[in-house]
Amino acid sequence: EQAAGARVGGDPLAGGRIKSKKPETAQPQRPQPKKGGEQRRKGRLTIAEALAGDEERQRSIASVKRRREKEKAKSREALEAGQKIVREVTIPETITVAELANRMAKRQSDVIKSLMNMGMIVTGTASIDADTAELVVSEFGHRFTRVSEADVIEGLFDLVEDAQKLAARPPVVTIMGHVDHGKTSVLDFFRKSDVVSSEAGGITQHVGAYQVTMPSKAKISFLDTPGHAAFTQMRARGANSTDMIVIVIAGDDGIMPQTEEAISHAKAAEVPLIIAINKCDLAGANPDQIEMDLLQHDIQTEKMGGQVQAVHISAKTGANMEALEEAITLQAELLELKADPSGVAKGNVIESRLETGRGVVSTLLIERGTLTKGEILVAGKAWGKVRALFDDRNRQVKAATPAQPIEILGLSEAPASGEPFIVVDSEARAREIVEFQVTKEKEARAAKTSSRSLEDIFSNISTDKTRELAVVLKSDVHGSVEAISAALEKLGNEEVAVRILHAGVGAITESDVVLAKASKALILGFNVRANPQARDAAKRDGIDIRYHSVIYALIDEIRDGLSGMLEPERVEDFIGYAEVLQVFNITKVGNIAGCKITEGVVRRNCGVRLLRDNVVIHEGKLKTLKRYKDEVLEVRNGYECGMAFENYENLQENDQIECFTVSFNERKLEAS
Ligand code: GDP
Repeated sequence: EQAAGARVGGDPLAGGRIKSKKPETAQPQRPQPKKGGEQRRKGRLTIAEALAGDEERQRSIASVKRRREKEKAKSREALEAGQKIVREVTIPETITVAELANRMAKRQSDVIKSLMNMGMIVTGTASIDADTAELVVSEFGHRFTRVSEADVIEGLFDLVEDAQKLAARPPVVTIMGHVDHGKTSVLDFFRKSDVVSSEAGGITQHVGAYQVTMPSKAKISFLDTPGHAAFTQMRARGANSTDMIVIVIAGDDGIMPQTEEAISHAKAAEVPLIIAINKCDLAGANPDQIEMDLLQHDIQTEKMGGQVQAVHISAKTGANMEALEEAITLQAELLELKADPSGVAKGNVIESRLETGRGVVSTLLIERGTLTKGEILVAGKAWGKVRALFDDRNRQVKAATPAQPIEILGLSEAPASGEPFIVVDSEARAREIVEFQVTKEKEARAAKTSSRSLEDIFSNISTDKTRELAVVLKSDVHGSVEAISAALEKLGNEEVAVRILHAGVGAITESDVVLAKASKALILGFNVRANPQARDAAKRDGIDIRYHSVIYALIDEIRDGLSGMLEPERVEDFIGYAEVLQVFNITKVGNIAGCKITEGVVRRNCGVRLLRDNVVIHEGKLKTLKRYKDEVLEVRNGYECGMAFENYENLQENDQIECFTVSFNERKLEAS
């Protein structure tokens, strides 16, 4: 600061100097000469004053010079003093000018100036690369350390486990299956059979994960993801948070599309499967047939001589549910699930949401270690000190251990589902990690937009107009927002596409309606509703709000919507050929060709192509079709007729006329 202040003073244009000049020059100017020859001068002529003025001017120039010298010395001193504070500046792979200035404790404008001297015209928000930043830092006389992304992130999640400390942990189970086959019923059954619930209150509904203590004392953690796609989205982020997958199949219904989907998701996740054939209380249930059918999907149950456990249950009556529990615990034993419950906690984000009054509420699943209140945690771009921990019964707890789902408060923002989290030792470290994540994301986004714009240029050449169905998507949890967005984005083709204007968590608000109105968009509410203001606004503005609670139904609806936007398929049917025998010019009517039909038929208003030596020289429509003087609907092979084209006169003898009809077929987008 001192150095900066001094430099301002040294600048002849700076305001500080002018200010200091006034008092300094004004005061000594008068008293000084008075000291030496006040009397003498008084007696002298009036020009003496002028002389005195001269003297004064000389002196003042001298004093200015002296003061300049003094100032220069001072600023040199300050500069030297400043140089003694050599800062250690950390330079990441890219850094914004503002942040660099901040790290050197310099003003942004000075850094910009320095960059300008290097020939770079930038603003404070611009990012510069590490090499440039290095030059700037050296210019200001500081030292630097360069850190690469690898230094910050690499190894962050790779904790070396001490085999001595490993202890058995409960399994984490995900239940999947076709809609209405009984996933919820199975989960509810387990939730109700929880032995801790009676004394501690039931498990909170609508929590993404919870732990159940079975009557056998065995603990099982269940992941309740909003759908298969959401599950895979989580996995895509690196969260292999489930140990096994239970696929529920209704015994009276069999393997359905979503069952197949669940099987492929489970296979992709490379975790063991358990087949639960549900609704076995129903007369129509045929569980053995289902086990047989599963063979076609490469699933060999034990009964079929394979390894996959299959149980025949009824979630409704509770029949054989303990067999399912046993299958789960047996599988868990086989997997020898172990984790170190001591030390640094790491795991995955299951879901997160914003709650009024509580801020960001994140459900985490601990993979290893113990998470305690007050620890600092990083998850993707979010970080924060854990302000409070709540278990799945909404009770505040002090710590959470492996396989335990836990809700925490205190993160800076809502991390995405599936984002891995880890506890770090300081806020500075947390910030550093987040900063890297943010830069990384920014770079990724920049790369994406630039490549998209290139693609745009290309696609504009070919299709000119991709018709878009704009949507605003609101959902109850982060996971479904992402799953639905991803699915919607995949729906389109080169002609039509879904454009997601906004996707977020929470109720549909007036601002969503405004957005939708502005872009003529459809609003989709997944497990959320519009608040009254939004409802009124939507009614007033004629905005369509569609509510859904089943992802695939929503996707189907949008697919149908998109199909409706597809240009119908144009189908051309060849109907006949005619040959031009002679061309007549009739005043006010134009050229009429006297023709003979050589193949098929010709119909009024059909499409025509004029061929001359087998080259198409015109394509259009027939204006008139005459037999003698009468307009006719159709002329058949072998007959002669008069033909004239719409907006085209250049007909010649021996030209061929190809006739065709055009129909349009409605098209549908393929379900993928
Ligand atoms: P989800 O869509 O897979 O979550 O299915 P639900 O758990 O909501 O169940 C769909 C319907 O099947 C509900 O009406 C349940 O009552 C019914 N259901 C679930 N399990 C059974 C069962 O074991 N037997 C019978 N008869 N009905 C069942």
